[in-house]
Parts: sequence; structure tokens; C-alpha cells
Amino acid sequence: MRVIDHVIVGHAGGGGGRTSEVFDPNTGRVQATVTLGTQADLDRAVAAAEAAQPGWAATNPQRRARVMFRFKELVEANMDALARLLASEHGKVVADAKGDIQRGLEVIEFCCGIPHVLKGEYTQGAGPGIDVYSMRQPIGIGAGITPFNFPAMIPLWMSGVAIATGNAFILKPSERDPSVPVRLAELFREAGLPEGVLQVVHGDKEMVDAILDHPAIGAVSFVGSSDIAHYVYRRGVAAGKRVQAMGGAKNHGIVMPDADLDQVVADLSGAAFGSAGERCMALSVVVPVGDKTADALREKLIPAIQALRVGVSTDDQAHYGPVVNAAHKKRVEDWIQTGVDEGAELVVDGRGFTLQGHEEGFFVGPTLFDRVTPEMSAYKEEIFGPVLQIVRAPDFETALRLPSEHQYGNGVAIFTRNGHAAREFAARVNVGMVGINVPIPVPVAYHTFGGWKRSAFGDTNQHGMEGVKFWTKVKTITQRWPDGSPDGGNAFVIPTMG
Ligand code: NAD
Repeated sequence: MRVIDHVIVGHAGGGGGRTSEVFDPNTGRVQATVTLGTQADLDRAVAAAEAAQPGWAATNPQRRARVMFRFKELVEANMDALARLLASEHGKVVADAKGDIQRGLEVIEFCCGIPHVLKGEYTQGAGPGIDVYSMRQPIGIGAGITPFNFPAMIPLWMSGVAIATGNAFILKPSERDPSVPVRLAELFREAGLPEGVLQVVHGDKEMVDAILDHPAIGAVSFVGSSDIAHYVYRRGVAAGKRVQAMGGAKNHGIVMPDADLDQVVADLSGAAFGSAGERCMALSVVVPVGDKTADALREKLIPAIQALRVGVSTDDQAHYGPVVNAAHKKRVEDWIQTGVDEGAELVVDGRGFTLQGHEEGFFVGPTLFDRVTPEMSAYKEEIFGPVLQIVRAPDFETALRLPSEHQYGNGVAIFTRNGHAAREFAARVNVGMVGINVPIPVPVAYHTFGGWKRSAFGDTNQHGMEGVKFWTKVKTITQRWPDGSPDGGNAFVIPTMG
């Protein structure tokens, strides 16, 4: 059995201890085990990070950027193998796995320009003979704790910006699909990143707690489910760290009566069912405005959903593959039952789906509910599976209130031909990322990613300039070079520039 081990400087592997099984969701079989690390493993990684970080921070930003350029080339050269590895542990189809890697690489492309974004601010003559300037300095050692659903993109969101800004970074990837993060760390080394600047520790709660409590780690970035995000945020902040913690989601798509319904159905199919709905930006609730819109949309959605092809992740005709493991398959199917019990109308039932020849795989068929209401727990909670819910709204104001009042506020979309309605919606909706006729509004790498309410704890987003701010501290210098003549200053009065 293959063992997936830490990437820690000087770590020779083995050593017993706890492990966790890594499945192939397509077959349901265990394909590897991953070592679950301890405090002692983390201490070794931190010691190596402490040794490596000052030299890396002192490496000029252009040279740090060159590592990013080489890393990008290496990932591109290894794209097929990485995507297959990713798909074999996660279950998403290979084309979608390439998208996962590509969206991460786009952050690396942003990091290739790090010398430019690290330039500070400067005011000449802020007072008589006084100049003021600022510089951004790395935090020191940062850590990232990532979810299973984007095993390339999210580790690259964090590690790219953290490293480019001069930090050492310790990644704790999801124990469900840990191989790609390990491969990415190896490729970074091959690209010339000094030993100890990026390390990977595997583990579960024990390792996460060790990270949160470690006095030498100055910043922690987390992405995962909301309860754990909130826990990570509170514990990390209590230990004096800078913490950003992204959580779960329930993304709504508002369909106005004037929308192009054929286009909406095409958009919804991909946004709700792509990656088996295991995306924090999956569009899992659709809100048609008016019963006429709802009925017409439903009529078009049913055949589109029934035509979806569920297959193994290497099937290039498949729209989506299995969910990540048996426990998650059960959880999704339990939520479908809850929806039924709460009185929603189950229009297409994806439970009990089996794929011929892959009867033990973790497949869930596409599922559609109509007449879901805001009181239902199946509406309030994130299902994270191939389940689309129709919540009917009589008018625009009701439709606007639904995502605005939901506990999650990650993404939202509006489908309309009316620019005024779209503009109103974007300005007023209480959600962090908005799509106008764009079903999955994940911002490009040089903008920034982050939701509101229980979708994100902390106040700084991922990547773009927000990421640079998160991984650096600002130092502001006020300087004066007196010419030696007495200036008559009164040191007992708070200095002003007046
Ligand atoms: P998860 O919360 O189960 O796991 C995330 C990380 O936390 C993993 O590294 C895991 O090992 C660790 N962890 C698990 N249990 C823990 C515990 N009790 N204490 C401390 N750490 C623990 O999330 P997941 O199932 O891997 O990922 C899916 C979730 O992530 C969904 O809720 C999804 O919406 C969310 N997500 C959010 C975003 C975003 O940017 N908002 C992006 C992707 C995924």
C-alpha cells in the first residue's frame, strides 16, 4: 500500500503512528494511506522553516519571482499527470481537475509580479526635512489548512502569495486527497525554492490544533466548513495569530422573468452539478421570480438534468464524477431525505444511483427539488452534493432578501437582461461575490476571493492585494536627516507636521 508522507526537511518517513485511508472514489477502494502527524512532526517543520525563512526573506523579490516563473512552467509540463492524480483521489473529472490546477496557477502568475506589488508608499517632505515611507515585510512563518474539494487551487492560493512575499509556509492539506499538494511541494523544490520554505504536514484535528497553538507560526489561512472555520478563527486569534478562515456556502441564482432561460439552464447545469456540487461556489439554490418563470424554468431543467452523464473521472464524456467518500455520499443522500421529510417536492431523485462496473464507487445522481422554502433545514444548511433546489419568489425584493438573509454569503448570481435590476441587485445584496449572468463568479487571481457572514471569518480575503496584505506586515518609517543646525523643537509636545 502506497504511503503518503509529510514533506518536512530531514524527515525520513515511516515512524509508525496514526494513518488515514485515501480512497479512489471511482471504485470505492482504498488506494493509499496518509500519515497523520503530531506535535513533534510540526515542531520539526517549524524548526526548518525558522532556519530557512530569514534567507528567503532577504532574497530579492525578483529572484523570488523567478522561482514562481519556473514553478509555473513545471506545473504546466506536468499538468496531465497532476490532473489524473487529483481526479483519482477527489473524483472530479480530469478536465475539471485541470481547471482546479489552472485556477491555482493563475495565482502563481500574479505572484510572478510580486516585486511590483511589494513596492511601498513614499511621501517626500511630509514635514520640514521629513520623509515618510512604508514597506511590507513578511510575517515569518505562515500555515495553511485546506479542504478536500480544491486540492491544487486552494493550497496554491495560500502558498503562492505567502512564499512570494518572503514567508516560510507550512501546508496542512486535506487528509482525503493529499497527493497533489505533496507533488506541488516537490515541484516548488525543483523550481529552485530553498529547502524549508515550503513544507507539507499531514493530519487531522490534532495537527490543526498544534498549528493553531504553535507560538512561532504568525498567520494561519484556513478554508473548509464553517463550524471548523469559526473554531480555527477563534483559537488562532486567541493565540495571537493573524487568521483568515473561509467557510461553507449556499449560493443562490436569481432568475428574472426576462432572462434567457435556455442560457440559464445551461449555466445552472454546470454550476450546480459540476464537480458533483462539491464546490464552495456551486450554485445550489435557484430563485425564479414569478411562478411563470419558475414553471418554464422547471420544465427546461428536468430534461437537462436527466441528460447529465455521471461517470468515472477518466471518462471524458462525463459531466461529473463521484463524491469524495462513502460518508459524504451518505450525508448527501440523508439531506435529500430531509428535504422530502420537510415537504419539498423531489422532482428528480439521484439517490441509489450506481454506475455499471463501478458499483462500489461513491456516485450520487443529479437531484432537483422544487418548492423549497426558507424555513427548511435542507435550505439553511450546505449539502455539498449534486442537488439543486428551486425556491420560488413572487418578486425581485423577495428574491433579493433570500441570499441576503441566508447564514452564508459566499457567492450569488443574477440572470437578467435588465441592467437596472442587475445593478440594484449587485449594490444591495448581502453577499461577498456577485455574478451578473455569470453563474460561478470566482474572481480572477489579481482580484480577491472571499465571502461574507458565515462564509468567512476574519477580515482579509484570499489572493490579489488582499492576500499580499494578509501575508505581510506594514512598517512605516518617518525619517529626518538634520543638517546640524538647532531646530528649536520642543520634544515635550506631540510632534505635528503643521
Ligand atoms: P472540512 O472543514 O471538513 O476540512 C477542512 C480542513 O479542516 C481539513 O484540512 C481537515 O483536515 C481539517 N479539519 C477537519 N476536521 C477538523 C476539526 N474537527 N478540527 C480542526 N480541523 C479539522 O472541509 P472539507 O469537507 O474538506 O471541505 C468542504 C468544505 O469547505 C465545504 O463546507 C465548502 O463550502 C468549504 N469550502 C469553502 C471555500 C471558501 O473559500 N469559502 C472553498 C472551498 C471549500
